[in-house]
Amino acid sequence: MVERVAQKVKDCKKLVVLTGAGISKESGIPTFRGKDGLWKKFKPEELATPWAFQRDPKLVWEWYQWRRQLMHDKKPNKAHYLIAKLEKMVPEFWLITQNIDGLHRLAGSEKIIELHGNIWWERCVDCSYRRENRKLPLDEIPPRCPECGGLLRPDVVWFGEALPEDALDAALRHSQDCDVMLVIGTSAVVQPAASLPVLAKNSGAFVVEVNPDETPITDICDVSLRMGAVEFAEALQRHL
Ligand code: NAD
Ligand code: ZN
Repeated sequence: MVERVAQKVKDCKKLVVLTGAGISKESGIPTFRGKDGLWKKFKPEELATPWAFQRDPKLVWEWYQWRRQLMHDKKPNKAHYLIAKLEKMVPEFWLITQNIDGLHRLAGSEKIIELHGNIWWERCVDCSYRRENRKLPLDEIPPRCPECGGLLRPDVVWFGEALPEDALDAALRHSQDCDVMLVIGTSAVVQPAASLPVLAKNSGAFVVEVNPDETPITDICDVSLRMGAVEFAEALQRHL
């Protein structure tokens, strides 16, 4: 099966890879859907929302600080590195990720569309100020805008918020226009990312899923591999 996927990758003109939290699991970063994703007694769905931030910015920032602490020393794994290598191998390539951990860039990927933002960036809720901030622990919680004194928030997309328009447009365009799509480590329940493989399939692409579990998109995939991202990367590497 992996051999067939490798052949498709070698023959393709435009490859799109879509990744979710599962690809970073073997780097030691917990996914949302799993018991180790919990912080204190809260579910991500209760904290990663604009309403939670309005009600209690301190609580939301404490959770983000905890997530940053979980992520700051984590390294890309073989799957992140293989994706960076595929970018150099095929004529046209795009990586669309739902992850906010920044590991793809660390692994050397360049053509990245970050659909849900980046956890290391902050932006002001009142003005256009943005900054990258890797300092741990934070100087103050919640942090304040140095320009206007407003509240800074993580520059990520929360439940109930729209995706950045440019990123979404590009993701839709490339999904409709690729001949092979690899979907790695996403539960395919968070929209609109979950509809991208369907779009690719309907546009004639060969769609491959890599996930230890079945997902809502399993049925529409040409190949669905029940394995972890690192095992897949090792197997694909052998056939390239
Ligand atoms: P998810 O948590 O909903 O699902 C993770 C998926 O990965 C599951 O389907 C699971 O079966 C699969 N998986 C588990 N182990 C795997 C492995 N070793 N290899 C491959 N797949 C594996 O994640 P999602 O679909 O990305 O969507 C949820 C949201 O979570 C996104 O908005 C994302 O921004 C956010 N999130 C990001 C990170 C991160 O940046 N690393 C971590 C947690 C959550
Ligand atoms: Zn400001």
